[in-house]
Amino acid sequence: MRTIRDLAALRARVRDWKAAGERVGVVPTMGALHPGHLSLVHTAKAACDRVIVTLFVNPKQFNSPEDLAKYPRTEATDAALLEPAGVDLLFAPDAASVYPPDFATRVTVAHLPEVLCGAHRPGHFDGVATVVTKLLLMTGADQGFFGEKDWQQLQIIRRLVADLNIPSQITGCPTLREADGLAMSSRNLRLSQSDRLAAPALYKAMEQAAAAIHNGTADQTALAAAEAAILRAGFSRVEYLERRGAEDLLPIDPATPRPSRLFAAAWLGEVRLIDNIPI
Ligand code: AMP
Repeated sequence: MRTIRDLAALRARVRDWKAAGERVGVVPTMGALHPGHLSLVHTAKAACDRVIVTLFVNPKQFNSPEDLAKYPRTEATDAALLEPAGVDLLFAPDAASVYPPDFATRVTVAHLPEVLCGAHRPGHFDGVATVVTKLLLMTGADQGFFGEKDWQQLQIIRRLVADLNIPSQITGCPTLREADGLAMSSRNLRLSQSDRLAAPALYKAMEQAAAAIHNGTADQTALAAAEAAILRAGFSRVEYLERRGAEDLLPIDPATPRPSRLFAAAWLGEVRLIDNIPI
């Protein structure tokens, strides 16, 4: 596996692969890799002849310089995990080459970023949309792999790829969880020992609410019980806990059934955890 930082070298590599008729997949990441990321790599390996992983901690999607500074950076360990997984190329560009001083373009998807995480993290999804557009265009990948863990992000990426005619197929991959149900995340590394023990309560409460709704409990009743359980477990704040349409992320009218999911973000100490599950 080669690590490339330079766009021209990346493009030359991909051009050779495509000339040989090979299908190229990309798994964009911000590093601090865990088995959730590796499951995306395995899915990409099964679907493509060549797999690129990108490692770029995107400054444009952070809401504060402190959060950006605190984000774990573990490139050597990440590379050591990717090599045996059969990744062909690690693309790890510098921030200055992705965003040179005269960079002036922003990709904004309408509507989808206005709710859930977007409502609490102004500009976050513009940053995500801008970097994902760039990474798909820089790599020229035939297929991009993204986690359902970040469901809202996945819907935004599907929208921008369709709207901008980016010739990459987008594939969503299921959320990988720890044995106790906690969704794997690079941010879990920042949980204290006691908060780590409390963390699975988020998923557990969501599962219970989804089951209750499925069995006819009113949304409001089920969601209020889940929020209370999350706070009882030691979370300091539930930022949101909502049921919304799976694709358009709009509120659900219980009288007109359609595919929906439960979405949550909650704070445990200094760490913000998110999760989502189908209903
Ligand atoms: P990140 O490095 O956090 O930007 O994540 C890179 C990709 O991995 C995104 O598409 C995430 O949705 C995905 N991902 C993160 N955590 C998980 C997980 N627990 N299971 C599956 N995919 C994940």
